[in-house]
Amino acid sequence: MAAAPSTKGSLREDLTCAICCDLFREPVMLSCMHHFCRPCISRYWRGTQGPVTCPQCRKEFSSKQFQTNYLVAAMVEKVRAATSDTYVRNLEKQLRDTLESIRLRKEDYINSIRRDKEKMNIIKKVRTDLQARVKGEFRALYQTLHDEETCMLEQLRREEEEELGKVQRHLEAMDVAVKELEDNIRVLQQASAGTENMVLTELPQLRPCVQMDVTPEFDINAFSKKYTGPLQYITWRKMFKSLSPGPCPLTYDVDTAHPSIHVSRDKTVAVECNVMNHHTNNNKRFLQCVNILASQSFQSGRHYWEVEVGSSPKWDLGMASEAVDRHARIKLSPESGYWTLRLRNGNEYSAGTQPWTRLQLRSSLQRVGVYLDFDERKVSFYNADDMSLLYSFVNGPREKVFPFFSPCISDSSHKPTPIKLLYYPPVALSG
Ligand SMILES: [Zn+2]
Ligand SMILES: [Zn+2]
Repeated sequence: MAAAPSTKGSLREDLTCAICCDLFREPVMLSCMHHFCRPCISRYWRGTQGPVTCPQCRKEFSSKQFQTNYLVAAMVEKVRAATSDTYVRNLEKQLRDTLESIRLRKEDYINSIRRDKEKMNIIKKVRTDLQARVKGEFRALYQTLHDEETCMLEQLRREEEEELGKVQRHLEAMDVAVKELEDNIRVLQQASAGTENMVLTELPQLRPCVQMDVTPEFDINAFSKKYTGPLQYITWRKMFKSLSPGPCPLTYDVDTAHPSIHVSRDKTVAVECNVMNHHTNNNKRFLQCVNILASQSFQSGRHYWEVEVGSSPKWDLGMASEAVDRHARIKLSPESGYWTLRLRNGNEYSAGTQPWTRLQLRSSLQRVGVYLDFDERKVSFYNADDMSLLYSFVNGPREKVFPFFSPCISDSSHKPTPIKLLYYPPVALSG
């Protein structure tokens, strides 16, 4: 055998019998290390008596001796198998399959790249839309602040003008008065000079003296007081009026209240009591669950309101469709016309989905903000103390909804805690 073959071609040549010029069959090795097929060398030596020779190198051997070379035999089998038709067909099929699978994978990757790019475009578009929205909201606030500032500065300017006008008029009157006095002085001096030559029979005619008002007072405190107060706080309070949506002034609709809910006279406080109210029956009233609605309803636009739940260990609140069945026990979920947040056992907050979605809150809620964007069908709940978002429903109402509340039935160990509707009346804008 020659040195290790470097290509398949030369390997095949190395495993070729010099007698039959084909791949070895039952390869055997002579003492000179040359290989031949056992049948070929046997045939070659047949009939020869005495010493025999190697057909390749002509070396002479005293007897017909050779060794079976299993290693070469194994290599020959490999090469033979590798060049068989089935093997080649298999290989070709494997090639095609591998190529196809790589092509498919490439197609997958290219699709994935396209999807990534689309996703990036969507992200950019959403960001642009949101940016416009944020800018719009802030522009409205800036405008309010700017209007407030302009208004206040204009008022300051008018008041200054008024004060200056008062002093200016006094100044002008004093000028006139001084001139009149000077005229009189001149007349008197002339008359006085004349007395040396003639007898003065009467006092010369003098111009009547103008009675001057006292100098107008400038009260620096009265002038400044409007501008030296807690201006930022005052303005901030005034801005409530411009908020869109601003906090909504809600009141309870007593006609919807479950008989065990008692409502305050101003209709902003509701509490559950074990003493039933005398009540009139009507279709609006909740008779199964301890629920109540607000009088106000919404079927377009954006609205926000705040509710104080205090330390109550148990409540539901949010909004309910006008169409909800008031006489049945119903699991609260958007599918049944309720978008709610709930508390159970003092610290288990959930969003009113089916099944409930448990919320992990860092602190207990005292005041809850409810936001409805009817047109975008969004209902969100906030911790009204720090305005952190608690939960957002994206499948909001399509039809008229009412703010909804349930103080739940209080157990005997807890004093019933009321649910209060919060409202901050705006202060009047300055003018
Ligand atoms: Zn041969
Ligand atoms: Zn030889």
